[in-house]
Parts: sequence; C-alpha cells; structure tokens
Amino acid sequence: MKIYNTLTKKKEEFVPLEEGKVKMYVCGPTVYNLIHIGNARPIIIFDTVRRYFEYKGYEVNFVSNYTDVDDKIIKKAIEEGVSASEISERYILELKKDVERLNVEPATYNPKATEEIEGMVEMITSLIEKGHAYEKNGTVYFRTRSFEEYGKLSKKNIDDLEAGIRIAVSEEKEDPMDFVLWKPKKDGEPFWESPWSQGRPGWHIECSVMSKRYLGEQIDIHAGGEDLVFPHHENEIAQSEACNGKEFAKYWMHNAFLNIDNKKMSKSAGTFFTVREITEIYDPQVLRFFMLSAHYRSPINFSQELMESSKNALDRILTAAANLKYLIDNAGKVESATVASVSGTSLQQGEEELIADIEKHQEKFEAAMEDDFNTADAVTAVFEIVRIANTNASSASSMLFLKAALDKITQLLNVLGIKALKQEELLAEEIEQLIQDRQDARKEKNFARADEIRNLLLEKGIVLEDTREGVRWKRA
Ligand code: AMP
Ligand code: ZN
Repeated sequence: MKIYNTLTKKKEEFVPLEEGKVKMYVCGPTVYNLIHIGNARPIIIFDTVRRYFEYKGYEVNFVSNYTDVDDKIIKKAIEEGVSASEISERYILELKKDVERLNVEPATYNPKATEEIEGMVEMITSLIEKGHAYEKNGTVYFRTRSFEEYGKLSKKNIDDLEAGIRIAVSEEKEDPMDFVLWKPKKDGEPFWESPWSQGRPGWHIECSVMSKRYLGEQIDIHAGGEDLVFPHHENEIAQSEACNGKEFAKYWMHNAFLNIDNKKMSKSAGTFFTVREITEIYDPQVLRFFMLSAHYRSPINFSQELMESSKNALDRILTAAANLKYLIDNAGKVESATVASVSGTSLQQGEEELIADIEKHQEKFEAAMEDDFNTADAVTAVFEIVRIANTNASSASSMLFLKAALDKITQLLNVLGIKALKQEELLAEEIEQLIQDRQDARKEKNFARADEIRNLLLEKGIVLEDTREGVRWKRA
C-alpha cells in the first residue's frame, strides 16, 4: 500500500510500526461553531483511510481530538455571556451528530484538550529540563532553534522564515521563531494551575500530548488538512521529537482544501456552508460520495451542479443494489425463478465469468485505494460492478450470482463509508397505525406491548412524543 508522505514528498510503501496494527491521529476541529463542509473533508477522507485499513485486516487505533479551549471559543463565550466550556460542550454534541450522520466510525478515543492539561504540564516541564523550552513572565516558549530539524515537514528554512517574519518581535522571546507552549490567563479567561502561571496551553502542545498519551511516542500516521502543515504539525514534530527523542509519526497525510465556486469559503461572500445546512438538502451520503469523487490531495470544488451529479451517480449505485436485493428477496416468489435461484447452489451459464469479472473490479478497487487512496478510481471500479449487475441480473439469475454482486457492492461501498441498502423506512400511515396499536395496548393496560411498539418505532428511527394533544412522531 502506498501513501504520499508530506515528510518525504514521496509516495512510500506503508510499513506499520507493529504488524497488523495502525496508530492514527487526526487533528480535530476547534469546537466553537457548527462544522463547515471544508472541515468535513478531513473527517470523511481519514475515516475512509481507516476503513480501508480495516478492510485489509488491520486493527486501527484512531484518535482525533477536540480543541476545546481556544481564543475563538472564549470570544464566543463572552459574546453569549456563558462559560467557554458551555460553548465547547454544545458544539462537541453538534459535531457528534454531524459525524454520525456522515457515517464516520466512532474514534477509538476523542480526547478533549481541557482534560489533558496534566500531560501538557508534564511535557512542557520535560522540554524545559532538556533545554528546549524556557519561561518568561509566566509564558513558556519552545526554543525553536534548539530543534535542529525544524522545518523538515514544511520544507521551510528557519533563517528564511525569520527573515520574512512580520509578527511583532516580542521582547520576551529569545528568538522570533519561538512559539508558545503555555500562556498566562487574561481577565475572565478559563485557566489551569501550572508551575509557571495560572493559564492555558498553546494549541500545538495539545496534539503532541494527546497523541503520546493515547497512541504512544511513535505513531504510524498523523493527518489533517494541508493548512496544518505549517506551523501546527511542524511545531508538533519539534515538541514531540525534542521531548521523546524518537521520530514522532512515520507518515504525514494532508488533504487539500475544499473551495466553493473555485474560491475560498467566505461568510461575507455568502459562500460558506455548514454540514448541517447541506445535509438538510442532500442525504449525508451524497456529501460523503461527493468528497470521495476526487483525490484527497487535489482541491475539490463544491457547487450545486457537482452535488447534483454526485446525487445522481450515487442513486445509480443504490438503485442497482436495491434491485439485486429485490431479486434475492423475491427469488422464490417470481414465477420465472429458476431452480438455481431458489436453491442457491449452482450458477447459471456464463455467471462464473461474470463473478470473475466482478472480482477483477474488486482488485481494481483495491489497487486504486492502495495507490495513495485514489477514491475517485475506486468509485469507478464500483460502477463497473454496478454495470455488470444491471446488464445481467434478472429473475433468471442464480442466487449465487445475485448475492455475489450485492455482497461486493455492499462491501466496497462500506469501505467508502456508504450504506448500499437504505434502511427500510416506515410509511407515515404505517407509523400512525402502530401509534394507534400502542394507544390501544395502553388502554388495555398491556404496557409490555406498548413498550414493544415504541421500541420497534425507535429502531426504525421514529421518535414518539406524548403531548397534551396526543402522540406526535418525528423521524430522528
Ligand atoms: P479547524 O477547526 O480550523 O482547526 O479545522 C479542522 C480541520 O479542517 C483541519 O484539519 C483543517 O485543515 C480542515 N479544514 C478547514 N477548512 C478546510 C477546507 N476548506 N477544506 C479542507 N479542509 C479544511
Ligand atoms: Zn493537531
């Protein structure tokens, strides 16, 4: 499997630190707002990377943090007159909803920065002891020039960086390139105790600490959007490697940006969309499919036309899967069904070749994914299987063939995080009828039956609300 490594600027063969295992850390969003569709790109891409490793039989330890203390969170808290944690907790909950709807597998851990302060104080202390950091008036800075390899990820030279620096040269710093590890609180800001001041950690130290705590000193993959290469990931490398004396991450993966109408997303230009807004218009699977229709290292342009064409393309795949399912479910009932399709033991003429063809496209799917996760080509391979199914599946097909085609489509879509078969939705009248049955059961004091109906509805995503005007229902 080949992965493009930002560190070496090359596609490299993936060799895990430990056989059969992958340790992966993805920098998560700062939680002060609903996530936008740009934020959804790394979420979807790296979930797909993880899913592919799992498909190949790897055990993946996947960690993604919540940055839950930050200037933007504090600013919003002040605006709303609430605590910073109220803001971050609110948006973590909202983020979880979006992520679940995008069918992202739950992470092994989602650490919160504010719950890891102890580890940060420990790492900063160790960096000071090793001469890589120093304290001035309650602020602790990383001594950037003490880490000789500084710039190796972003291919920046520290002298060039310093020459081009426009930030005000703070008197406190020994060198303008030094960056903050710990800063004292300002009035009204949340703070934690530390040996240097009551204050809070800098952003970069969070990830170095959380990655070490949940995955160890060395990990396989560290990932995020390309804007994080410098300074965030460069600084993470400096902190972690200076502290641990080991290479931090073997592979650094970065997704390119999502733009709107070929421009950066902008609130003022009205080209800014949250995941919530888009998934109210489109099925969340369409957004996911859209993200995977381009290679993750190419910029992707978001537009209504492209979403429409993603919707149509995905519909074609899902319709093919639904047809296969229909033929399988009705094999015994359709008059022209053959013995083969009912018993499911033998193939019809020509089907052996078709199944071999399907497997060939599965190999193409794998080859695409193993070429630095070329999801665009992987999707093409799925379409090839859909084409085989559409041109050959009928009530005269064998059960073996129908199932082989449906299983393959389901399995490969699952790698992409897309569910091939829609959960069967209840129709409104069926729901009304069940509610009526539940009311009747209650009248008869058959509460067990009433609960059973409520749970059955819940399983189908229907939530009941008992109100004064009667029972109301909604789809969850
Ligand atoms: P932030 O909350 O700004 O730290 O962003 C969270 C993640 O989303 C990071 O990995 C960013 O690189 C990524 N990200 C932010 N904006 C975009 C965008 N327009 N396209 C792709 N990724 C983005
Ligand atoms: Zn990070």
